[in-house]
Amino acid sequence: MKIPAVKGFRDVLPDESIRWWVLEERARAVFHRYNFREVRIPIVERTDLFQRSIGETTDIVEKEMYTFADKDGTMLTLRPEGTASVVRAYVEHALAQHERVSKLYYFGPMFRRERPQKGRLRQFSQIGAELLGRDDAAADAETLLLLYDLLAAFAIEGAEVQLNSLGCHTCRPAYREALVTWGRAHFDELCDDCRRRVDQNPLRLLDCKQPGCAAIRDSAPRMLDHLCAECQAHFARVRELLRREGAEPRLNPYMVRGLDYYCRTAFEVVASGLGAQNAIGGGGRYDGLVRALGGPDVAGIGFALGVERLVMVLGERALEADVRPEVVVLPVGEAAEALAVAVAHRWRTGGVRVEVESAGRSLKSQMRQADKHGARFVVIVGEDELAGGALTVRDMDARRDHPRALGVHLTAEELRAALARLSAA
Ligand SMILES: [Zn+2]
Ligand SMILES: [Zn+2]
Repeated sequence: MKIPAVKGFRDVLPDESIRWWVLEERARAVFHRYNFREVRIPIVERTDLFQRSIGETTDIVEKEMYTFADKDGTMLTLRPEGTASVVRAYVEHALAQHERVSKLYYFGPMFRRERPQKGRLRQFSQIGAELLGRDDAAADAETLLLLYDLLAAFAIEGAEVQLNSLGCHTCRPAYREALVTWGRAHFDELCDDCRRRVDQNPLRLLDCKQPGCAAIRDSAPRMLDHLCAECQAHFARVRELLRREGAEPRLNPYMVRGLDYYCRTAFEVVASGLGAQNAIGGGGRYDGLVRALGGPDVAGIGFALGVERLVMVLGERALEADVRPEVVVLPVGEAAEALAVAVAHRWRTGGVRVEVESAGRSLKSQMRQADKHGARFVVIVGEDELAGGALTVRDMDARRDHPRALGVHLTAEELRAALARLSAA
């Protein structure tokens, strides 16, 4: 009996995992240019970490977490996002005492028990970055420029960054009241979820996807019109610094982000070519979070990008980094086997990507196989080659044979030089 994968969990097979690999390599290179360093956080945390950071009344905490009791009764949760864990680690290891600013990035799987639908997985992966220890507008601008540089490194066409400000503890309470008043006035037009949100989490009224709610939100008050003087100045400065660098995110007054702890700058990235599920990531400022999790009063800003959606829109340009074999070695006949293994081993040790076919099949079927690997050069080890001490090369692109063109003792370096000569010939 076959045992299938669990619903909402999937395998990433080699044709796709090359895209993951390219994505990670490119992301690391960009992170390091911004002096972000990697943190590896555990997959399991205590449940109250997420209740306290994400917020009790969010969909994630209410409905979507994989939570279970450990054998000693401790409630544990598979992490639904990365920020809470990074901040927990930041507080636990007292990083604030060792460095004024911490710039951390992470890769890894997250878990949310969402309703299974196309493109919605229960295990999904994120690339994330957190900048802790700065509350100035330049930190927001740098974080957004990092995001823009990542999107450029992934060669994503038609990605759009959207920006909003969510205010602060000075200006948001009054705005929240204005939203509650508006929600009560439109109570009959709201969906069931939103009727519940009016008092519990009124900001979420703005990003409801139900057509009825979306239709009336134009009449809702906007945070951008209710910002205090400090928030206004901060937001204007962020936009000014970005504009100087040629980055002009689109204002989206209805973007509120799902998590309770966001304040001031909030942003999302949407990509074309993904249909309705077009958000590929987002983030924002969360100045109260470190303290809420038992740490010092340290500001923070960060974002996360969804890897599954990124690999779908990853530009072909980004895939130039190739991991296919450069050379396929074909032993023709059992006698050629040992020599084929020996030359392949020597070249691989020298850094060449080499595939070796198994001996004992017809040259024709081996050639067909070699073609599938996508290598430009096939090196044939046959009886003539064994006798003559030289190997035949077939150039698959030029469809041309070079009989006994390579000595059997070539080093990897000499092989590369010889293949370059042959491709130029
Ligand atoms: Zn404010
Ligand atoms: Zn609604």
